[in-house]
Formats: sequence, C-alpha cells, structure tokens
Amino acid sequence: MSKELGMTTKKKNFSKWYLEVVKKAEIVDTRYPLQGAHVWMPYGFKALKLMFKIVEEELDSYGHEETYFPTLIPGSIFSKEKNFLRGFKGECFKITKAGEKKLEEELILRPTSETVMYEIFHLWIRSWRDLPLKIYQTVNIFRYETKMTKPLLRVREIVKFKEAHTVHKTAEEADKQVEEGIKIYKNFYDKLCLPYIILKTPKWDTFAGAEYNYDFFIIMPDKNVLELASVINLGQKFAKSFDIKFEDQDGRKKYPYQTCYGISERSLGALISMFGDDSGLILPMSIAPIQIIIIPIGDEKKVMDKCKELEKILKHKFRVKIDDSAKRPGFKFNYWELKGVPIRIEIGLKELKEKKLTIFRRDKNEKEKISNKNLIKYIHSLEKDINKNLSRIGKQWMKENIYSTNTLKDAKNTYKKNRGIIKVPWCNNEKCAKKIEDTLAISSLGTNPGEKCEEKCVACGKKSKTYLYLGKVPY
Ligand SMILES: [Zn+2]
Repeated sequence: MSKELGMTTKKKNFSKWYLEVVKKAEIVDTRYPLQGAHVWMPYGFKALKLMFKIVEEELDSYGHEETYFPTLIPGSIFSKEKNFLRGFKGECFKITKAGEKKLEEELILRPTSETVMYEIFHLWIRSWRDLPLKIYQTVNIFRYETKMTKPLLRVREIVKFKEAHTVHKTAEEADKQVEEGIKIYKNFYDKLCLPYIILKTPKWDTFAGAEYNYDFFIIMPDKNVLELASVINLGQKFAKSFDIKFEDQDGRKKYPYQTCYGISERSLGALISMFGDDSGLILPMSIAPIQIIIIPIGDEKKVMDKCKELEKILKHKFRVKIDDSAKRPGFKFNYWELKGVPIRIEIGLKELKEKKLTIFRRDKNEKEKISNKNLIKYIHSLEKDINKNLSRIGKQWMKENIYSTNTLKDAKNTYKKNRGIIKVPWCNNEKCAKKIEDTLAISSLGTNPGEKCEEKCVACGKKSKTYLYLGKVPY
C-alpha cells in the first residue's frame, strides 16, 4: 500500500500511531475545525454501534429500560445539588442568547444527566410501588476539556454516552445495584476481550455529589492509565436536593437511594489502543463491522463463483464481504488488515484445485489452509480462539504493568523505571496518600476492597489493611 494509505508510524510511538490509525482505518475524521469535536466515519460508527449493542443487551437483560431526556438544562435545575455543581464548574458549555435576544434563564449543555433526570424523577416517583426505577439513555454530552484532546479518548463532544440511572427504597438495595452495575460492565468488557482493573475511588476523588464509586481502569500502551467506566452510589444526596420522595409500605414519606453508571466511545478508543499493531487495527469479532473478508486471487470466473458461494453460506451467520475491486491482492490484504478485519479467506486456482481455503487471522497474523467442508463450524471455533487469544494478551499486559512495592523509595524508583500502575500498602489516611502521590508525582486511582493487606503503610509505617493503587491519568 502507498505511504499515504498505509500505516507509517510504529505503535511504540503510541501518541502518533493512535492518531494515524483512527484516521487511516476510517474510524473518525479529525479535520473538523473545532477542537475536541470529530466526525465519525461510517466504518468507525458501525463498530461503535456494535459495541453499544453489547452493553445495551446487558442492561436490558438486567431490567433497565431506555429513555430520552433533553440536552438543554435550565441553570436553576443544574445548580440544585451543590457538590455536583462545584464538581462540574468550569467544564460546562452555557447558552445565554438566542440570536441577539438574551435568554431569561441561562441554559447548560448537559455534561451528564443527573440533574435533568432527577427533576423529573421527583414527579415520577410517588410510592414504594414505583421502585426500583432502572433506566438508561444513549446521548451526546459536552464537556469543556482543557487538557489536550484526543479522538475518542478525550473530547469536548462525547458522541455516545450510555448512562444508566436507578432509584431504590433502601441503602442495601442501592449497594446491590452498584454490584449489578459492576457485573454488567464486567460482562461487557469481557465480551470485548478488553482487560481492566476495578478500584474503589478514594473519598476525596469521589464523583461530585456521590457516596462512593468504583472505576474500571486500563493501562494504555504508553503505560498511562485510562478510566473506562464508573459505577456510582449517589446515596440520598440528590434525592434530598431534588425532593424525590416515596411513600413506603408503613405510610411514611422517605427519600430513596440512587445509583448511576456510564460508559462512552472511550471504550472503543481503549480497544483500538490495546490490540492494534504496526499494521493497523485488530478488532474482536463482536464489534468488527466486517468479520470476514473474502479475497479472490485472480479474476477467473470459477474463482469468483466460489467466492460468491462462500459469501452465500456465511452471510446468515457473519458480517461478510467480498473484495472484488480491481486492486492487487497484496494491496487488499494490507487494506483490510489496517481496518482490523478479524478473518480473511483467500481463494485462487490453487485453493480450488486442492479443495481448500486459505484462512488468515488478524489477531495472530497467521495463515492456515483448511478443508472447505464445515466452514461455519470452523469459523465459530476460530472466533472462540481469537477471543481467547485477545483476552490472554490483555490480561497478561495488565499483569505485567501493575507493580507491588512496599517502600516509598522502591515505589518511586519502580514507577520511574516502568510507569504503569504502582500498588503500595496504605493506612487509609488521606495525608499519607497525598505524600505518596507527591513523592511519585502521580495520582491515586483507588483501592480493591476485596484484597487483604498485612503490611505497613509506605508513608507512615502504621499497619495497613489496604493497598493504594496509583498511576498517571492524562486522558
Ligand atoms: Zn499511613
């Protein structure tokens, strides 16, 4: 392929590679003249839709229902929960005029939808019979990012934000819902073969207006950390600010407990980053817009007929396409490899004569010859093997890049040498966390409450029950 069309940057130069791959694989067009706003190309948008279909099925299967709430939020509603307001200060786009006319009330372009939804929950929820309420919506949201923007990973218009919001009678039910939210995202990322670590956010970093939250993190190829998803227990703070009350079975009016959780196209950005290589994208079957590309070698009629016959057999089960364009086979191989198509079938006179097919799998960049009998069964088992391979690569990557250390000095040296995520024994004191953060010049990510620790805090030497995880989160 020509320099103009093919990849020219190696993945070890991650930042540049990433920008090149999202452009050349036709995920987004980054030439739109507004910082942090990108145009989605049909190929990229299809992958994104397929990805969101997976999480939608998960949410539906756990009893969530889809809704839609407006983009514009009146300023008076947006400012009802004070911590939330403070948390989003400086990040919101505001509309103050329509044409030349000054608006009576300032409007906010939603940075997330808690406030707009809870204003209406106040009207919807009357009795214990209305609970639990479990809804979600998929919308664009706007945040004025001041850090350097990057397609899919850090943008000012998030094109697909899938946010779920739930309301419950008791605190226990809300805790259980947080567990369910975590389960949903685990299933989702497992289906994408994407690795993650789930951590409970330290108190001082908790989502604005929330009781506690869990975050899913992934380590990127540049050894920095990306937050993939958040699952948040809001407690009763929003219910009190928005006066959401229900009449319980005992006849008393009570404030309910709320949770929310969300993901965005960032997950696709993480997947592209995690699995791509020097030749371009590597996509799992679950979200590949084209799962199988059939390439005729030569232009003999019987080769084309065989290609069409295979397409007919496969198209009921898979997203399949024949590339019968006039380009050379080698060009086509490179092109579809760049786009991350998981499986390629090559058919030429040689294959016809041998009654075989040449199969190329993108995840391993390996070719093999197979008999053309039982093709569907073969592809299904190949899909399983691709998933297994990608999941293994992801888990191995995370394992290799999380470092346990037990002194501050060791933590500092280890981070300097390796980056990634550093794990240290910690006494739960915020002052100690700040000392560790300052020494390593990175941020706290959180703790894993399921993990036991019997070591001494690296900052103060006191006996510790937890480990603190730290890393750099530039995205
Ligand atoms: Zn300490």
